[in-house]
Amino acid sequence: MFREMRRKKQLLPEAESLEILKKHTSGVLGVSGDNGYPYTVPLSYTYQDHKLYFHCAKTGHKLDGIKHNDKVTFCVIDQDEVKQATFTTHFRSVIVFGRAKILTEYGEKRAALESLVEKYSPAYIAEGQQEIERDWNEVCLVEVSIEHLTGKAAIELFKNKE
Ligand SMILES: Cc1cc2nc3c(=O)[nH]c(=O)nc-3n(C[C@H](O)[C@H](O)[C@H](O)COP(=O)(O)OP(=O)(O)OC[C@H]3O[C@@H](n4cnc5c(N)ncnc54)[C@H](O)[C@@H]3O)c2cc1C
Repeated sequence: MFREMRRKKQLLPEAESLEILKKHTSGVLGVSGDNGYPYTVPLSYTYQDHKLYFHCAKTGHKLDGIKHNDKVTFCVIDQDEVKQATFTTHFRSVIVFGRAKILTEYGEKRAALESLVEKYSPAYIAEGQQEIERDWNEVCLVEVSIEHLTGKAAIELFKNKE
C-alpha cells in the first residue's frame, strides 16, 4: 500500500528513523486541507510506542482536515547541510504516514499531555501539571498511529560512514 523508496541505498534503518523522531522538537503535519489543497502545519510532538502525540486548540484548519480524513503525514528534518560546491545538501529526514485520532478518554488525554510536559519542560513537571489542569477544557490532544515510516539520508552521508 505504501511506496518503496526509489533510491533504496538512501533508506535509513528503522531504528535510526525512530531516534530522529524521538530527539526532535518539531515536525510538519500534513492533512487533507480545504478545496483539494493539502495543508501542512508545523507542530511540537512526542513519540511513544509507535505513536505521535500533539496538542492544539479545539478548532482550526488542521483539526477540520483530520475530521474529514484521518490519514495524515508527519515529516521531521534531522539535517540540512548545504554544500555549495557540489550543488547539493547533506540531508537526513523522516516521513511518517498514519491515522489520526482525537483523544477523548481522560487517561489517554492526560498521558499525552504529560508526555509533552516531560519532553519540553522536564525541569517544570509540577508546574506542567498545573498547566494541564488550567488548560484541560481548552486543549485538544491528537494521537497519530504510525502505519508506515521511512528515513532517508543523502548518499554522501552513507559514504562518510564507510
Ligand atoms: C515549531 C512550531 C511548533 C508549534 N507547535 C504547536 C503545537 O504543538 N500545537 C499547536 O497547536 N500549534 C503549534 N504551532 C503553531 C501551528 O503551526 C499552527 O499555527 C497552529 O496549530 C494553528 O493551526 P490551525 O490549522 O488550527 O490554524 P488556523 O488558524 O485554523 O489556520 C488557518 C490558516 O492560517 C495559516 N496558518 C496557520 N498556522 C500557520 C503557521 N504555523 N504558519 C503559517 N501560516 C499558518 C494557514 O494559512 C491556515 O490555513 C507550532 C508552530 C511552530 C512553528
